[in-house]
Amino acid sequence: MKAELICVGTELLLGNIVNTNAAWLAEQCAALGLSCYYQTVVGDNAERLSAVLRTGLERSDILILSGGLGPTQDDLTKETAAAVCGKRLVEDARSLSRIEDYFRERGMQMTDNNRKQALVPEGAIVVDNDNGTAPGIILEKDGKRIILLPGPPNELIPMFEKNIAPYLVSLEEGGPSVIYSRTVKICGLGESGVESRITDLEALENPTVAPYAKTGEVHLRVTAHAADEKSAKKLVKPVVKELEDRFGRAVYTTKNQVTLEDALVKLLKKNGLTVTTAESCTGGLLAGRLVNVPGVSDVFKTGFVTYSNRMKRKLVGVKKETLKEYGAVSPQTAEEMAAGAARAAGADVAVSVTGIAGPDGGSEEKPVGLVYMACFVCGNVWVEQFRFKGNRAKIRESSVAAALTLMRRCILEVFG
Ligand code: ATP
Repeated sequence: MKAELICVGTELLLGNIVNTNAAWLAEQCAALGLSCYYQTVVGDNAERLSAVLRTGLERSDILILSGGLGPTQDDLTKETAAAVCGKRLVEDARSLSRIEDYFRERGMQMTDNNRKQALVPEGAIVVDNDNGTAPGIILEKDGKRIILLPGPPNELIPMFEKNIAPYLVSLEEGGPSVIYSRTVKICGLGESGVESRITDLEALENPTVAPYAKTGEVHLRVTAHAADEKSAKKLVKPVVKELEDRFGRAVYTTKNQVTLEDALVKLLKKNGLTVTTAESCTGGLLAGRLVNVPGVSDVFKTGFVTYSNRMKRKLVGVKKETLKEYGAVSPQTAEEMAAGAARAAGADVAVSVTGIAGPDGGSEEKPVGLVYMACFVCGNVWVEQFRFKGNRAKIRESSVAAALTLMRRCILEVFG
């Protein structure tokens, strides 16, 4: 089956927001075995959207749209799609009551235009939105499907995974009816390095193996189609095992929901270790990632944000001479920050981050993106140098991912 993506929103056309939905949906379609030959971005304009829909219906079997389902005047995806299919809009009682509940639960006043979100094209399949107000909608026209999804990724992604992917699979005539996927999550290896080791597996058709790059991580999604879940799991299992064998310790989980910080906190708990952080350029982001994990208080008591030299000395005991001789961004300072933080917090494990996040402050000798980290584990210390690319936010985000990865690696080295 041929699918195509249509993302609606003037903000997208103007470049105010990045079209992450298109990238995400394209990957999902590929994993489901749908051929996706076209992607279109169109503004909030009924005439142009109608033209895009008509063209799409001529050349594809399934049109997947995102955005423009909101309550405001410029949200016109649903009205336009209904008009193209020759359907009128009717109020969907179930959606209306879900929208009313949504506002009641949040103690918010529901306005009249929110009622508009409960209008659906006659005869359409209505898909519940568990994270927002606009329901998803599936329309049929002459054997073709138009699928309307809300724009916010935190609404679109769960809706697609829970309802739309199984629906798409069920369309395959006489074919399989379930999909099942597992994600092999890898840290500490670059995307191209990982991809070059799985080219044979990427050629598989069922299950498919699709790589997704995240900051500091690569995820390999293994997805199978089969008549039932048991058979799909049977197809996925050996491929997950093969990936685990190929990437060894770099695999931190094979469970879809587990994050790198979850895996790290689990490892700390398993070994009865406490942890602390000493952060300069990441300014608390690393501690924030750790605190994402429920139950982290068993292992994490405190973290230090030591941005100035004075605080590096005062809070985690970096020596004045070290700062003077080598500078704040140096392996020596990173090492003293980690050892000092462990001492000050009475923790078994400490990681430090000191670097130049830019845009200013770089030099030929110490360019923007240069980051040193040290990891202290029960008296042993490792120091690492990194050269990250990107803007300030990206460098800080990359540093956090690398610090989590470094901690995991060092703990595994000591405790196996
Ligand atoms: P809402 O019900 O929240 O109004 P909607 O379906 O009308 O949702 P839009 O109004 O088009 O969606 O977009 C709402 C927000 O969703 C945007 O401001 C943006 O943050 C995000 N968004 C929309 N489309 C995309 C996209 N293609 N990629 C990434 N984010 C998007």
